[in-house]
Amino acid sequence: MNQTLRVVLATDNENKAREIREILSEIDFIERPPEFPEIQETGTTLYENAVLKAVAISKFTNMPALADDTGFEVEALNLAPGVFSARFAGEGSTDADNVAKVLELTKNALNRVAYFKTVIALAVDGDEKIVGFGTVKGTITYEVKGTNGFGYDGIFIPDNGDGRTFGQMSADEKNSMSHRRLALLDFRKKYTESDALLT
Ligand code: IMP
Repeated sequence: MNQTLRVVLATDNENKAREIREILSEIDFIERPPEFPEIQETGTTLYENAVLKAVAISKFTNMPALADDTGFEVEALNLAPGVFSARFAGEGSTDADNVAKVLELTKNALNRVAYFKTVIALAVDGDEKIVGFGTVKGTITYEVKGTNGFGYDGIFIPDNGDGRTFGQMSADEKNSMSHRRLALLDFRKKYTESDALLT
């Protein structure tokens, strides 16, 4: 097993941080320094963005750092919004704006298949070390259903659920099958196999 590793967490989203701490309980996470500037997500893939965030914080703090990036992909939109999920309806757009744009662009689409994808990256000494991937496949609705969750939750019905959207589920229900959970479990498996890398 690895020794307990102290890692700076890139996300300042409390819900994500709680999920990460729960699943990666063998890692000692500390908060990202408040003075660290906003990181520009200039990558062209979720993978590049997760790695660039982890590397930037690892270099800044001289400590290992863990970062995540998530995207929503719709087959009828050639896998958009993807890496642009947070700003699909333009710079500064809200979740509601982004959801409305997806619904408008897909209102006549017969192919309703969509994916949530998460990448979790650990950087040590400013270099990429371990990366975990998680994907949930599902379908998009024609209208928002449910008010729980955030982002695109209200228009996504996971295939591995019971027909409700993520937005109609409790946080625990969603987290038990989410893309983030799958990415964290994939990361955890690789992390526990990586003694040689980190000790
Ligand atoms: P981030 O990479 O987690 O910052 O998310 C990028 C975009 O995907 C934002 O628009 C989020 O609202 C959305 N998003 C991230 N995770 C989820 C989720 O679990 N459900 C719904 N939308 C999400």
